[in-house]
Amino acid sequence: MACVSYPYEHEAPVSQTLFDRASLVTPGGVNSPVRAFRAVGGTPRFMVSGTGPYLTDADGREYVDLVCSWGPMILGHSHPEVVAAVQAAVARGTSFGTPGEGEVALAEEIVARIEPVEQVRLVSSGTEATMSAIRLARGFTGRAKVVKFAGCYHGHVDALLAAAGSGVATLGLPDTPGVTGAQTGDTIVLPYNDLEAVRQAFAAHPGEIACVITEASAGNMGVVPPVDGFNAGLKELCSADGALYISDEVMTGFRTSKAGWYGVDGVRPDLMTFGKVMGGGFPAAAFGGRADVMGYLAPVGPVYQAGTLSGNPVATAAGLAQLRLLDDAAYEKVDAVSLEIQGLVTAALSKEGVAHTIQTASNMFSVFFSDSPVRDYEDAKAQEAFRFTPFFHSMLEQGVYLPPSAFESWFVSTTHDERAVERIAAALPAAARAAAEVSA
Ligand code: PLP
Repeated sequence: MACVSYPYEHEAPVSQTLFDRASLVTPGGVNSPVRAFRAVGGTPRFMVSGTGPYLTDADGREYVDLVCSWGPMILGHSHPEVVAAVQAAVARGTSFGTPGEGEVALAEEIVARIEPVEQVRLVSSGTEATMSAIRLARGFTGRAKVVKFAGCYHGHVDALLAAAGSGVATLGLPDTPGVTGAQTGDTIVLPYNDLEAVRQAFAAHPGEIACVITEASAGNMGVVPPVDGFNAGLKELCSADGALYISDEVMTGFRTSKAGWYGVDGVRPDLMTFGKVMGGGFPAAAFGGRADVMGYLAPVGPVYQAGTLSGNPVATAAGLAQLRLLDDAAYEKVDAVSLEIQGLVTAALSKEGVAHTIQTASNMFSVFFSDSPVRDYEDAKAQEAFRFTPFFHSMLEQGVYLPPSAFESWFVSTTHDERAVERIAAALPAAARAAAEVSA
């Protein structure tokens, strides 16, 4: 039974019952840690349906969704053309374990959009994409060391779970037990946006670094775009040493522009990784890049990589339908609504005197409770994250679903229309007040 008046009750009895059941059979009651609301407290909302910019939870409450499944749902939930493509694909069969035309079409779409991608291989998650790209870089160069940046998250790849952002940042985990010293022994972690540190790493390890992997624009410690010249400098340093420059576009790919962050900064990576938007809400991801590097992959080359459900016909149908709908007009719409919401947030927080900085990467944005710009993980951690908790809960009780962490990007879609924006605008004053009133 839908609740129509705000604020919603703090308790969410049906979600709570589901969470109790889930906690008995699943660690922490969730299948991905940040969903558990540990950073903000309270009961995670169990969602039962989504339409356009709205999610409805098991207690019948509707929310404007500013998470969009952590990025993928750029056309909103249940887009009719994506749903139709999925239904048609399901009716033809759900998995064949053979090549199929949908995979070819999706690969062609990616190659057509992103010029540095000459060849691409489909996988099922962003984690698989980055793991495979690292393996390929090591196989291609015959080198072991990998450079990554503190606060960047590349999925839960063992070698990359050092100073990672996203859930690792949210939960404040220093390191992850189960990842051995041997697995991270060849990982060099450097501060984001610090080109001099990268220069020194190459000087200290000449001819030993297989690749530098970076989020094309960091989004997993909140949105922290690369400073001018950072990505270009990485590419230059890699090329000079014979290392590969890997741009992780799992989050930014097909979201920050038609050609992702590459479409924004034009720095040409050797390898790129994709996920989220390209799967249309299904498990589809990819890595790709230079044909000579991709030619090292089995079955043509010696580097092994495989997957039972890679290029799954339903996932590829969803991804292809979504990408084909993402034309210039769609990005203009998402960019415009993102800007509008940013303006509302900053007006509300300013009115209450709450120190904050909104940082953007095209239509991705996040709100740092800090009045100085955030350039790296240390800056991100220095924000007054305690202000986010009451802000989040106030928004939730007024029907706006934010990422349950101060270290994540907010995401919008083409379907965030006037009504959705009005709901956000109406919720913000009380949320800003709650953020102002709380003390550490
Ligand atoms: N790389 C980046 C930049 C991401 O943001 C994520 C997930 O948030 C991943 C990789 C991992 O993707 P997945 O969660 O699909 O394994």
